[in-house]
Amino acid sequence: MADASAICRSHSFESDEEIDGIRKRLLTWYEANKRDLPWRSRKAQSLNEKAYAVWVSEVMLQQTRVAAVIDKYKIWMKKFPAVEDLAKASLDEVQELWSGMGYYSRCKKLHEAAQKVVNDLNGIIPTSCEELAKQLPGVGRYTAAAIASIAFNERVGIVDGNVIRVLSRLRRVGVAHNSKIAENHFWFCSNKLVDEECPGDFNQALMELGATVCTPKSPACSSCPVSSSCLALKQVHEQRKFASSKFSKTDNGSLPDIESSGCSLCLPPTEPWDSDKGVTNFPRRGKKTAVKTEEFISGVTSFRSNDIDYYLIVKRPSTGLLAGLWEFPTVPFLSSNGEKKIQLLGHLRKFLSEDELSEVEIRESKTVSHLFSHRRHIYHIHKIILSINHQTSQSLSKDLVHFKWVTEEELFRLAISAAVKKMFEASGDIVSPNVGSKTRKRKLNGTQQSLEKFFKSK
Ligand code: SF4
Repeated sequence: MADASAICRSHSFESDEEIDGIRKRLLTWYEANKRDLPWRSRKAQSLNEKAYAVWVSEVMLQQTRVAAVIDKYKIWMKKFPAVEDLAKASLDEVQELWSGMGYYSRCKKLHEAAQKVVNDLNGIIPTSCEELAKQLPGVGRYTAAAIASIAFNERVGIVDGNVIRVLSRLRRVGVAHNSKIAENHFWFCSNKLVDEECPGDFNQALMELGATVCTPKSPACSSCPVSSSCLALKQVHEQRKFASSKFSKTDNGSLPDIESSGCSLCLPPTEPWDSDKGVTNFPRRGKKTAVKTEEFISGVTSFRSNDIDYYLIVKRPSTGLLAGLWEFPTVPFLSSNGEKKIQLLGHLRKFLSEDELSEVEIRESKTVSHLFSHRRHIYHIHKIILSINHQTSQSLSKDLVHFKWVTEEELFRLAISAAVKKMFEASGDIVSPNVGSKTRKRKLNGTQQSLEKFFKSK
């Protein structure tokens, strides 16, 4: 936790009576109000099975909304009901099932960790928070604490975005929530608060409160079971009282400064309490990380055979951003390398023969921008239509591991990023996976150009 000498005592939970009260009220509220979610109602035959079910749900819920996870979780648990089933599946199968939830590195790590459990740990998931974080790739402090407390009843607190919001308001923590000092303090508070008998339920209750009552923009303080312990709400009430008092006429109703200038967890004097924001003064955001922009040229490359369109897709490298996912042929855009079309056709030669590229129609489409966590990718999309037939293309595309031809329906079943879906849309096609390619007819127009002509023109 933060240096005790440098912080106000009000930022911690000091009294046993208050801690007991918060535990009781929160657990009672949770029992009556918890949402019926598949990972909560799932029956497990053993603690190992329970741990696996909790683990999958926690990984899915990171950076993905509950509503988007529910159906995916049910399908996942049907296909991979035990850690052994997940371990023996191929990464392609696992990523295909994950498709649509983004942040594919989570799924890759989960698959890797399942293989470690089966191959190195006799199929037994570690039972303590410390061992879970130590042994399993991709399992950090949060996920380890969730599995240990919910599946194995270990008395360990939890800190995620919802918990940070609740704790920062309860204890009026005004320093940037992602600073080291704040992070340590939230873990300290959460470990102190967590219930001794029911740590799993308590942790879920705290997260549920943040998700459904103590929400980012419009917290429902009047329905909050722990409002009597909430210092942010207390500050709102004091502010109102002060504003309506006789002093308001002489100093504009502003509350006297109640933050301690020497405390490292109080609101900073440079960004004091804003009365219009009320309890949403907390948590305070840290500085945003600068977004790096990178440009690419992509070719939505297709041919038509028997009235069906086939698209060329390529597998990304197994490490780095979007590792192992499928995408349209894409190459970094280097303005020094000349015209975009030339660069793209040069890249396509890695996958297609000169024969296949001998007659192509190239249409430039709009530019697509996609924001990954701290990177913005700008894709200059081109639609490349090859004049080949199915037989020819199959004979030339034997490498199904690194690239292959797929129909629109197959494309949307594969592990592809949201950026690839945007590219497909930008290329002028129908996006919906429900619309079969056979039903679509497209008038091909544009200039027929050969690759030879392009290269000769340089
Ligand atoms: Fe959040 Fe309001 Fe409850 Fe405080 S009283 S914890 S701000 S919902």
